[in-house]
Amino acid sequence: SYAVSSQMAYKIYDQKMQRSFDRRLYLEKELPKAIERQELTVFYQPKVLLETGELSGLEALVRWDHFRLGMVPPDELISIAEETKYIHRIGEWMLREVCKDIQNWDKQRLHIPQVSINLSPVQFFDDNLIHTVKTIINQYHISPSRLEFEITESISMFDIEQIDQKLYDLKRIGVQIAIDDFGTGHSSLVYLQRLPVDVVKIDRSFVMDIPENQGHIALTKAIVAMAHELGLKVVAEGIETIEQQQFLQSLQCEMGQGYLYSKPVPGKEVPLGCFEVV
Ligand code: C2E
Ligand code: MG
Ligand code: MG
Ligand code: MG
Repeated sequence: SYAVSSQMAYKIYDQKMQRSFDRRLYLEKELPKAIERQELTVFYQPKVLLETGELSGLEALVRWDHFRLGMVPPDELISIAEETKYIHRIGEWMLREVCKDIQNWDKQRLHIPQVSINLSPVQFFDDNLIHTVKTIINQYHISPSRLEFEITESISMFDIEQIDQKLYDLKRIGVQIAIDDFGTGHSSLVYLQRLPVDVVKIDRSFVMDIPENQGHIALTKAIVAMAHELGLKVVAEGIETIEQQQFLQSLQCEMGQGYLYSKPVPGKEVPLGCFEVV
C-alpha cells in the first residue's frame, strides 16, 4: 500500500543521504593528507587564439586522485576545501606547482605565454593573498604578467568596495585578472565597467548549446560586444564543435577553450604548436 512504499522510499532516501554525508566527512578527513601523499596534481587546459590557432595560455586545474576513491571531482574538492579552510594550503600549493612548471617549460625552451589559476571567493578575500602571491612568484622568478587569476562572477555578491580594493592590490603586483563563468551570476555591467578586469570568460553553459539555442546565441553576442566596448578580451569556455568555434570567430572573440582543442592534461603532455582553427 501507499504507506509502506512511501516508508521504503524514505528509507532508501535516508541511506543515500547517509552515504553522501559519510563520503563528505571522510573526504574532509582525507583532504589534509592529500598533499603529503602526493595525491594532488595540476592539469592544464590550453587557451587558443581563435584567429591563428596559436596557444595563448593554459588554465591550471587541480586534480585529486584519492588512493581509495579515485578521482574526486574538483567541484566537490573545492567545496570541501573551502568549508574546512584547507583551500589556502591547496591554493599555495597550486601556485608553487604552476611556478615550478613555468620554470621547467622555460628551461626546455617551450613557449608557454601565460598560465591562469582559479581563485575561489574564500581565497580571493583572504588577508594573506597578496603577500603569498608576491612571495611565491618572487621565489620562482616568474614575471607576474605571465600569471592570470580567474575569479568567478559569484564574488559580485560581496561588497564592491572590497572587491575593488583586492583587485587593485592584485593588479599592482602585475598579474592579469579574468572573470570566470561570466553570464551565470548576478554581476552587472557596472561591475565589469568599474573593476580592473582584463578578460571575460563566457560560461560553458552558453557555448554548449550553440547553434540550437537562440537565447544563448543572443546572450553570447551581447557579452562579447559589451566586453569589447569596455576594452576587455574574451575567452569562450567549453568549445566542443567547429560550429561553435566559427560562431565565436565571427564575433571576433579572441580566445577559445574546450575539448575541441584539448581536455585538461598533465603538465608533461601539454600540446604545443598550433591548433587547427579554420
Ligand atoms: P572552471 O574554472 O570554469 O573550469 C572549466 C571546467 O570546464 C573544467 O572542469 C574543465 O575541465 C571543464 N571543461 C573545459 N572545456 C570543456 C569542454 O569542452 N566540455 C566540457 N564538458 N567541459 C569542459 P574541472 O576541471 O572539473 O573544474 C571545475 C571547476 O572547479 C572549475 O571551473 C573551477 O571553478 C574549479 N577549480 C578547478 N581547479 C581549481 C583550483 O585549483 N582552485 C580553485 N579555486 N578552483 C578550481
Ligand atoms: Mg576557470
Ligand atoms: Mg570557467
Ligand atoms: Mg564554467
